[in-house]
Amino acid sequence: MLARIDLRGSALPGVRELAGLLPRAATDIDSVLATVRPLCEDVRIRGAQAVREITARLDGVDAEDFAVPAEALDRALAECDPTLRAALEEAVARVRAVHADQRRTDVTTQVVPGGTVTERWLPVRRVGLYVPGGLAPLLSSVVMNVVPAQIAGVESIAVASPPQRDHSGLPDPGVLAACALLGITEVYAVGGAQAVAVFGYGAGSCEPVDMVTGPGNVYVTAAKRLLRGLIGIDSEAGPTEVAILADDTAEPAHVAADLISQAEHDPLAGAVLVTPSEELADAVLALVPGQVNATKHSERITTALDGSQSGIVLVDDLDAGVRVVDAYAAEHLEIQTRDAREVALRVRNAGAIFVGAWSPVSLGDYCAGSNHVLPTGGCARFSSGLSVQSFLRGVHVVEYDEQALAGVAGHIDALAGAEDLPAHAAAVRIRQRP
Ligand code: NAD
Repeated sequence: MLARIDLRGSALPGVRELAGLLPRAATDIDSVLATVRPLCEDVRIRGAQAVREITARLDGVDAEDFAVPAEALDRALAECDPTLRAALEEAVARVRAVHADQRRTDVTTQVVPGGTVTERWLPVRRVGLYVPGGLAPLLSSVVMNVVPAQIAGVESIAVASPPQRDHSGLPDPGVLAACALLGITEVYAVGGAQAVAVFGYGAGSCEPVDMVTGPGNVYVTAAKRLLRGLIGIDSEAGPTEVAILADDTAEPAHVAADLISQAEHDPLAGAVLVTPSEELADAVLALVPGQVNATKHSERITTALDGSQSGIVLVDDLDAGVRVVDAYAAEHLEIQTRDAREVALRVRNAGAIFVGAWSPVSLGDYCAGSNHVLPTGGCARFSSGLSVQSFLRGVHVVEYDEQALAGVAGHIDALAGAEDLPAHAAAVRIRQRP
């Protein structure tokens, strides 16, 4: 369990090579495209009937209509356990508080007197939000998707989540309760690639959307890749992962618990400890089996921790640790070191950073106020997690008056000439008074 990778004693290689030495899940999206392409095509051509047959085959649920009736949403909220409802309300309030601060305002720049450019932020009109429900019903993902879309001002929001055999073919009741709590009335009991295809092409009562967001398994991700262009997507959020940069001040039991908590998501989940402390590494290794055996999903967790995507990386010092976690670019990065805040400031690449002993990754999964839909697989080097910004497009609105245009006409002439595009220059010159 948890292989050791010892990088001590010699200079660390360059970023690409270093990233190649670190444990990471090899989710080969291309390899499932052959499965996913015909599923999506089937939905495009045969619509609701294809969805029905695919859902029966893959999810074991045969339902005439995959649209969730309004009564089911109302019932799920009415029957929601009060403790769960209070927790959902708290999560919504915190996520709202953080995301409300992300809303950009339109900015007008006066370039010259009479010449302005305004950047207007316009929401995507209609989005489809995917909420996973294979291994775990991720009702928290409802909050993480819906709240930023609502704050962005998205007009039309649909949610899809896999049907559950033990809930009469409806999505998990917690997922439905979260939707109802947030005022979402358009929900579909469909999962996997077929859900993305329903959103992309439209099927049954579901009209096509402009954009699909949300995490999911490799089939969901492959379908997002396939339909990208027809629709927008947030990112290819793959199996979850956590990296923990810790020194000898970290509490081994906490580090072990945090590695296990992310491994619980998925047999493909990655859990990586990076430390200069051999004592901490030994203590964590000694504690993990007991904690794993004591928890419900020990089989899934063991697979994840045994896998080539998880391990303990020993480094010479914290500086080397920072270089390692930067090269890894984890979806979630915990810093459990002396001066954790200062160490966190030195990190460049991570989807979200959890600073200090009291900010475990589980906090961010649910109730920190941060978003939990984050870039995986090293994509944190160049992309961000889901935010209000994900649902907005910046549109430049250009307005020059006659004098302002005349003032720059000579430069346009020169540039158009250099590009051998004389009609460009002519379109400006024709407006000039003789
Ligand atoms: P899921 O809802 O993504 O997938 C379940 C669906 O997959 C089913 O409805 C089924 O139709 C389809 N499916 C299953 N086997 C199939 C097959 N052989 N062929 C075609 N389709 C098939 O739920 P999940 O499987 O639990 O995956 C959720 C994923 O989301 C996990 O990997 C988790 O780590 C990840 N996640 C990522 C983030 C993030 O921000 N990156 C956040 C939360 C969760």
